[in-house]
Amino acid sequence: MKYLDEYRDPAIARRYADAIAAITTRPWTLMEICGGQTHSIVRHGIDQMLPKGITLLHGPGCPVCVTPSGVIDAAVAIAQRPGVTFCSFGDMLRVPGSGGSLLSARAHGADVRMVYSPLDAVALAQANPDRQVVFFAIGFETTAPTTAMAVLQAERDGLDNFSMLVSHVLVPPAIEALLADPDTSIDGFLAAGHVCTIMGFWEYEPLATRFALPIVVTGFEPVDLLQGIYMCIRQLEEGRAEVENQYSRSVRRAGNDIAQRTLAKVFVPQSQGWRGLGEIPASGLRLAPAYERFDALARFSDIAVPPDQPGECISGDILRGAKRPADCPAFGTRCTPEHPLGATMVSSEGTCAAYYRYRRPRQDASAAASLSP
Ligand code: SF4
Repeated sequence: MKYLDEYRDPAIARRYADAIAAITTRPWTLMEICGGQTHSIVRHGIDQMLPKGITLLHGPGCPVCVTPSGVIDAAVAIAQRPGVTFCSFGDMLRVPGSGGSLLSARAHGADVRMVYSPLDAVALAQANPDRQVVFFAIGFETTAPTTAMAVLQAERDGLDNFSMLVSHVLVPPAIEALLADPDTSIDGFLAAGHVCTIMGFWEYEPLATRFALPIVVTGFEPVDLLQGIYMCIRQLEEGRAEVENQYSRSVRRAGNDIAQRTLAKVFVPQSQGWRGLGEIPASGLRLAPAYERFDALARFSDIAVPPDQPGECISGDILRGAKRPADCPAFGTRCTPEHPLGATMVSSEGTCAAYYRYRRPRQDASAAASLSP
């Protein structure tokens, strides 16, 4: 299959791993900010194919995981209101807030529905004019345009029973926050190909210049990742700090103009809380004044987003790349995908879920050999 099989070819992957080893003269630490890339790295043992001095850190790239527990508490509070139908993507239903998840709210009688698109929630509002339908809008720049389209559709339909709890996040301010940390050990970034398909990579150029480090827009298959790592290491070894595009079969520097204009019409940037990273200026989105009537927190104005409650889950540290799942005493014992204690185990893109699925101790020996379609 074109654009898939050739990016999973073990021989090509091995050649890139050898090329990385050939140009590496000292230790380097790279971070990917994409849950899909994290899963591919762990699944295919990409990190185990690299020279010993190359460390891959898994960053805050899972949209479900970075949603703060306080926002989940607000979602549960809204879902429990009489007359409300609360709609969310599937993984988000299981993430525990301080007092339970949306799924547990459903078990106690709340009308909580799983949807595959924000437009499904708009359709529910059209079909149920007697219900207040609320959509939980989470995710990066990849999903935010479809949320914006749902707002425009609700406006066209004249719906007054549709609103959304918005917790969208933006990648470049998160990179800036990670690099502004004086304790950071990150030498280079792999940027997420799907985010850059929408937003382009022009936003990353000032970051590469200001922090003097390479950023390589990278895809998701094993050969994509190894090529992205090779390009990043080559820049580091040559003393360059540029934005390069490994994922050129999908990404252009300017990105998708229509999606960006739709986003800019419906949303404006705002300060946003991230699990593990805290509040980051201009890293989130809120509805623009013309669309504020679709804001669920304005509609249910007595419900506020509470501060996150510390618990035993260390997913915040894992999302910063400061710890790994094996550092958590609950990993694989009290915390499993069937009984998750935290977001990074719930989400199909979460780091703990990836290590549980592909890298538990008994699987280590076979992980490096798993590079296959
Ligand atoms: S293993 Fe579970 S409790 Fe530990 S950090 Fe991961 S999600 Fe949290």
